[in-house]
Amino acid sequence: MSSQNKFNVAYIKLCTKTEGPFNRCCIWFQGCNLNCKGCCNKDLQALIPNHIVDFDKLVEIVKEARDNFGIEGVTLSGGEPSLQKGLIDFNKAIHGLGLGIIMFSGRSKDALNPELVNSVDLLIDGPFIESELDTDRVLLGSKNKSLTFITDRYEAEADYFNNPVSIEEITAEDYIFINGD
Ligand code: SF4
Repeated sequence: MSSQNKFNVAYIKLCTKTEGPFNRCCIWFQGCNLNCKGCCNKDLQALIPNHIVDFDKLVEIVKEARDNFGIEGVTLSGGEPSLQKGLIDFNKAIHGLGLGIIMFSGRSKDALNPELVNSVDLLIDGPFIESELDTDRVLLGSKNKSLTFITDRYEAEADYFNNPVSIEEITAEDYIFINGD
């Protein structure tokens, strides 16, 4: 699958253990218009071009992460991933590589394009609410956030999120920095 779409990427980690179960490639997209009070990724809110990456190039990066690091899947974060045009086709391409997809969104599931929702395996949705800080579940941020298992791919991994501690095992080569085209 190919597309003329381009993505606005802030940064990518090719292999991490801290953005969901298993080894994952994590993509942080630039831009979010939700302005949650206490947002921990304020630098990623600005709706400005950061690294503009071709559809095919981003798929290739993920493929290389799979081949070089044996990732199980991709985590889409940000910023607000749902602002990225072409994400549905991108997710299809990622599934075509045999990889799973976890997507964070500050929007509620009902406010998202159903086709986008159905293109991921696990959706973590809802805005960050500072007054509902969640210290019992890793990665989720606030207690209002919910996990929706769109497919059964991660159902057995639900407990991953019931752990406030996550230990990173990183190597020097697992980060990449993209130069815009
Ligand atoms: S949705 Fe996420 S990135 Fe956007 S403002 Fe809220 S916490 Fe920040």
